[in-house]
Amino acid sequence: MLFFRGKTLDFDPDKCVRCGACFASCGHGALSCNPECGDREPFVTINRERCVLCQKCVKVCPVSELPLHPLIGDDIEQLEHICLASSKDEQVRFNASSGGAARELAYAALQSGFVDAVYGVRRLPSAPFYEGAYFVEPDDVLQMANSVYHAFPFAAGLKKRLDGRLIKRLLFIGTNCQMQAGANFYKGTSTELIRVAILCKQQKTHDFVTYIRREMGDPDDLEAAIEYRGKGWPGVVRSNAKEKPSEFYTVPFGMELWRVPGCKLCANLFGWKSDLVLLDPWGIGADDRSGLNLVLIRTDTGQRLWNMGRSRIADSDQITGAGGTPNSKSRPLTVADVKTAIDWWRYRRTKVDSIPYYLGQERNWMRKLGYAFLDWVRTFNGWFFLRFKNRALRNILMRFWGKSSKAILMIVGKR
Ligand SMILES: Cc1cc2nc3c(=O)[nH]c(=O)nc-3n(C[C@H](O)[C@H](O)[C@H](O)COP(=O)(O)OP(=O)(O)OC[C@H]3O[C@@H](n4cnc5c(N)ncnc54)[C@H](O)[C@@H]3O)c2cc1C
Repeated sequence: MLFFRGKTLDFDPDKCVRCGACFASCGHGALSCNPECGDREPFVTINRERCVLCQKCVKVCPVSELPLHPLIGDDIEQLEHICLASSKDEQVRFNASSGGAARELAYAALQSGFVDAVYGVRRLPSAPFYEGAYFVEPDDVLQMANSVYHAFPFAAGLKKRLDGRLIKRLLFIGTNCQMQAGANFYKGTSTELIRVAILCKQQKTHDFVTYIRREMGDPDDLEAAIEYRGKGWPGVVRSNAKEKPSEFYTVPFGMELWRVPGCKLCANLFGWKSDLVLLDPWGIGADDRSGLNLVLIRTDTGQRLWNMGRSRIADSDQITGAGGTPNSKSRPLTVADVKTAIDWWRYRRTKVDSIPYYLGQERNWMRKLGYAFLDWVRTFNGWFFLRFKNRALRNILMRFWGKSSKAILMIVGKR
């Protein structure tokens, strides 16, 4: 997070969500970033000689605008529609992160002329493998990336004009913090943002992916290990170790090893201020071999976008065979189903309750102490996992650390 200390621009690594919007806003080349920095190293470097103190980078930073309070109860009840969904094209569905709804919506919105452009993640053939980019032609959507589970400066590619013309309506697909960054970027312009939120509970860090690489014995060619769905979690490892040192690895959810420092700030589970939210329906009985989306439609605009994509996307009642769920067949999905699909308890304890602490606003000293301890435990975990070679002993110790941190969380949470 960038901020002013007196008249000097400064950077707080602990509050940075690594969205990259500050780079896009700086017209003076005063900011540079190191996407491969470790978790405790600065993601953003400031060249003070070039900085003209225009404050654009501070204004675009989403961190201070993210909601402080958990948006769970009323917020999620006020939905236009909830459903399970997947692309009608089996190939798209299989290759997508979940059901392929994101790319199908992007395609439909561009094809129908509903938007001038879509902003999302584009795959790159070589390191760093991903970038935030505009998609203008429907077929460009084929270059869209699956979920990228590590931090990279997604919003760094934002620009207000495409080929010299202003974007009138933009479909922005990203995580909540990225979306707020996009909204800040376009604030005061005539560009209307249609917001599709990718639910993001966690994102892996560089240290985590380095750990995975070492875990796999630092193989030369991990392309062969790419696997999506079918062998359970963690099932995906993507990398190109030949491109060292810029390799990246992504592994899906399931381990408690990662954190992006700024992610602790986000209380926004259900796409606050978005038109439509896409999730993976873990926990409501979907089989994980055929991709599915859990879709929360929040606004009229979200509903319009959804209607546009309906010729390409199957809704709950049209999904048959593998991927259909008992819930979807017997009754419409409810808010309760959505809540079940998320590890609610853990989320509340580890993320939402700690927000005031991470913002420096926690007044209760017991809680302060508890979170400081947890911070230490987590940092130690990262350090430990990166360095410890003996797998069996490490697993035993990890269990101990995992349990102790959960116990502390319970005590802290109850106070
Ligand atoms: C970091 C991360 C964490 C997630 N955690 C959860 C979770 O805990 N629980 C859950 O239910 N779902 C989670 N998801 C969402 C889920 O994995 C799917 O992305 C979502 O259901 C959309 O799937 P899809 O098949 O429609 O997307 P696809 O059609 O495969 O398209 C993927 C879309 O995601 C965008 N995208 C990919 N990576 C990123 C990124 N790093 N930042 C911004 N946009 C990105 C692409 O631009 C594209 O639009 C997470 C996603 C990400 C990126």
